[in-house]
Amino acid sequence: MERIKILLFPAILLFSFLHFPTPSTVQATEYYALRVAGSDCILCHTDPGTGTLNQVGVLFQEQSYRYPLTWKGIFFYFLGGCAFFLVLLGLYLRYRLWRRGKGEGKWTRLRERWKGLFIYVFGQRGVLRSLFPGISHLLLFWSFLFLSFSIFIVLVQEYLFFPLLRVRFFGPESYPYYRLILDLLGIIGLIGTIFLACRRYVVGPKGLDNQRTDAISILFLSFVFLTGLSLTGIRNQLYQSSWSQWAPVASFTGWILKNIFEEESSLKAFFSALWWVHIFLSLTLLSYIPFSRIFHLFSSSLSIFFRNLEAKGVLTSIDLETSETYGVGTMEEFSWRNLLELDACMRCGRCQEACPAHLTQKHLNPKKVIQDLKRHMERPRKERERLHLIGDVLTEEVIWECTTCRNCLEHCPVFIEPMVKLIDLRRNLVLQHGKIPKETHFAFRNIERKGNPWGFDSEKRMWWTKGLGVKEVTPGEKVDILFWVGCYGSYDDRNIKAATSLIRILNRAGLDFGVLGNSEWCCGIDLRRMGSEYLFQVNVEKNMNRFQQIKFRRILTTCPHCFNTLKNEYRQFGADFEVIHYTGLLEELIRSGKIPMTSGGRTRKITYHDSCYLGRYNDGYEPPRRILGTIADVTLIEMERSRTKSFCCGGGGCHMWMEEKAGKRINETRVKQAEKTGAEILATVCPLCMISLDSAVKVLNLDERIQVMDILELVEERMKP
Ligand code: SF4
Ligand code: SF4
Repeated sequence: MERIKILLFPAILLFSFLHFPTPSTVQATEYYALRVAGSDCILCHTDPGTGTLNQVGVLFQEQSYRYPLTWKGIFFYFLGGCAFFLVLLGLYLRYRLWRRGKGEGKWTRLRERWKGLFIYVFGQRGVLRSLFPGISHLLLFWSFLFLSFSIFIVLVQEYLFFPLLRVRFFGPESYPYYRLILDLLGIIGLIGTIFLACRRYVVGPKGLDNQRTDAISILFLSFVFLTGLSLTGIRNQLYQSSWSQWAPVASFTGWILKNIFEEESSLKAFFSALWWVHIFLSLTLLSYIPFSRIFHLFSSSLSIFFRNLEAKGVLTSIDLETSETYGVGTMEEFSWRNLLELDACMRCGRCQEACPAHLTQKHLNPKKVIQDLKRHMERPRKERERLHLIGDVLTEEVIWECTTCRNCLEHCPVFIEPMVKLIDLRRNLVLQHGKIPKETHFAFRNIERKGNPWGFDSEKRMWWTKGLGVKEVTPGEKVDILFWVGCYGSYDDRNIKAATSLIRILNRAGLDFGVLGNSEWCCGIDLRRMGSEYLFQVNVEKNMNRFQQIKFRRILTTCPHCFNTLKNEYRQFGADFEVIHYTGLLEELIRSGKIPMTSGGRTRKITYHDSCYLGRYNDGYEPPRRILGTIADVTLIEMERSRTKSFCCGGGGCHMWMEEKAGKRINETRVKQAEKTGAEILATVCPLCMISLDSAVKVLNLDERIQVMDILELVEERMKP
C-alpha cells in the first residue's frame, strides 16, 4: 500500500508532463509558469547597480509585463492542485484516526502550551539534548520551515497582495537580505540532511531502525535542496545582476554547472529541465508528507502543544462510580491525544536507549510499544477488531515488565508517554479482567487486609521505635512534622536502620515531630502503578481520614515513592498539605548548623544512585549531592548514567514483588555500573533502591568491594553527639 502511495503522485506527474505541449511564448525562465497574469517583474530584473532592466526584464517590458497562461502554466497549476489535494487528504486521514480516541480536555493552560511550542518546536530543546543529532535536526528543521514559508510568502504576495493592493513585502533594500537568508538556508538544510543521513546509515546508533520512508524522505529532501540551489545558481550565471552576489552558495553551484556545460544554450536547456525536476520533486515531497517520516514535523508539534501538563508524578484518576470500562482494552479507549502521540513518534529511539527493561534484554521496548500501537491504529477496522490489543498487539509480559522508572517520558523529545499507556493497559487487565502477575497476589492481598505488602500486623509497625523518643500522634493532637515512615521503613530491617538514623537526626536538631504509629497504612503507590486503581483509592481514603484527625504543618518521608504519591497524587483526593523528602530537610539542617558533623576518617570514594521517584519524578537531583558535598571524608564520583539518565534499581512499579523472568537483572546491572566507578560506597535515598541494590551486591559477591548505604546513615555516623 505504501509503495502505491509513493508511486501514485510521480506517476501522475510523469503522465501529465509527457502529454503537454511546450509553450511557444516567452521562455526567459520557467519560473514564470507561476504567473497567471501580470505582476511587474521590475524588482527582480532591474539591476540594482545600474538601474537598467536585464534581458528578462526587457522581454517582460515588451509584453507589458504580462506573461500569458501557457500549457506549462496550466500543467503547473494542475500539479500544484494535485499535491495540495493529496496533502489535505493525507492530513484528513490522519485526523480521522486520532478522532477515534476518547475526548480529553487539553485546551486549558494555553499560555503554557504556546510557550512549550516555542521552546520545544522552534527552539528544538528536546532534540538538542543529544548534541550531534540535535544540531543536525535543528539545521534541517529551520531551513525546511523557512524555505517552505518563503514559498508561501511569494504566493501570498503574487496572488493576493500585489494584484489587489500593489504591495510587495520586499523592496530593493530588503530583498537582497531575504535572498541571502534563503541561499544560506538552502545549504544549511542540505548539510543538516547529509548529517542525519550519515548518522543513520554510517554511524547507525542502536536506537535507530531504518525504514523505507526514512531513505525516501532523505533522498527527496537532499534533491530538493540541491536542485533549488542549482536553479538559482544557473539563473545567476545566465542573467547576471548585482543580485547574484546575495546568493553566494547558489552562485558557486551555478558557476560549477556553467563550467560543466560550457555552451549557454545547453545550460539554458538544462535549466528548463531542472526546473521541472525541482517542481516534480518538491510537489511529490509535499504530497508524500502525510504518509512519510516528515509528517512528524506536524504531528509532533501537535503532541508538544497538547502535552500532559499535570505534575510529572501524577496518573489520571478513574471515577470508579461512573466509569463503564476501566483502562484501555481497545484502541478506541485511548484518548485522542494518546492516538496523536502514536503519529508523533519519530522512532528516534531515545526512550529505548534509556529503558532499563530494554537495556537488560527484556521483551519491553517503549519505542516498539508505540510503533506496535501505531501499526494497530492504522489497520482496517475488521482486522483491528479481530486482533486483541492485549495479547496480539502487546503481550502481558511487555505490559508488566515496566518498572515505571519514567525514563521513556523524560527522554522523549515530543512528550510521548509509553509508560502511561502501559499503565492504562494494566488498569484494563486488573479492573476489567482481574489479572495480575501471580507473584504479586500476596502483596495485593496483604496491602488490602493489613496495610503493608508482607502482611505483618499493624501493631508491629512501630516496635523498633521503642527508646528512640518518637511521639505517636493521636487524633486531635498537633505536631509540626508528621514523619511518614512508610512500609519499608517500618518492616524491612535494612530500612529500619535508615529510619532510625532519621529519628536520631530529627531529635538532635530538636524538631517537633511525630508518627502515625500503628494507624499508618500503605500509601498505595504500587497498587496504582499496577493498575489497581480501586484498591489505591481505598488506601487513600483510609489515610486521608487519619490525616484529617490530626494537625501538622508538613509530612516528611524517607521513601521517594511515598513522597511522590502523598505530594502529587493525594491532591486528586482533596489533600492540601506540604510533603517533603528528607533530603531537602537534612540539607537545611546541615547548612543551618543544627547537625554539626565530624569527619569520618579516611577519605572514601562514593557514588550516588538517583532514585527515579525523587529525581525524574520530582527533580530532586541536587539536595542529595549537596549533602554528600558537606561530608568531609567522601569524594563523589558520578556514574555514567546519573541524574535524568539514571538507571532504575528495578524495584519500582511493584517489581519488588515480581520475578525478572527475562534478560539480565536490572539491580545487578546497576550495581555493576556503580562498581565501574571504583566507589566503595553506593549511596541511596530510597528504601526500595536500598533493598534492590543491597541484594544485588550480595548476589554478585561484591560485599567486600562496595557497600550500599542510605545518606541518612552516612550523616548520622558523622553527627557530633
Ligand atoms: S517507565 Fe521505564 S521501564 Fe517503563 S517503559 Fe518507560 S523506560 Fe521502560
Ligand atoms: S516515543 Fe519519543 S523517544 Fe521514543 S522513539 Fe518515539 S519520539 Fe523517540
